[in-house]
Amino acid sequence: MGESVKDPVCGWEVHSHDISALYLGTEYGFCSVECRARFLAFSRRYAGHRDQ
Ligand SMILES: [Zn+2]
Repeated sequence: MGESVKDPVCGWEVHSHDISALYLGTEYGFCSVECRARFLAFSRRYAGHRDQ
């Protein structure tokens, strides 16, 4: 169960928070540890501050 979230890195819909990260108070879910590592490396870009 649980809500589906969008992997901010690759755009896939993921249905569990098995692989997740908390950034600025928002929880993000990922399809793989690779996507999570990428998000953590470029979190500012993936969290929506694309211009900076
Ligand atoms: Zn992904």
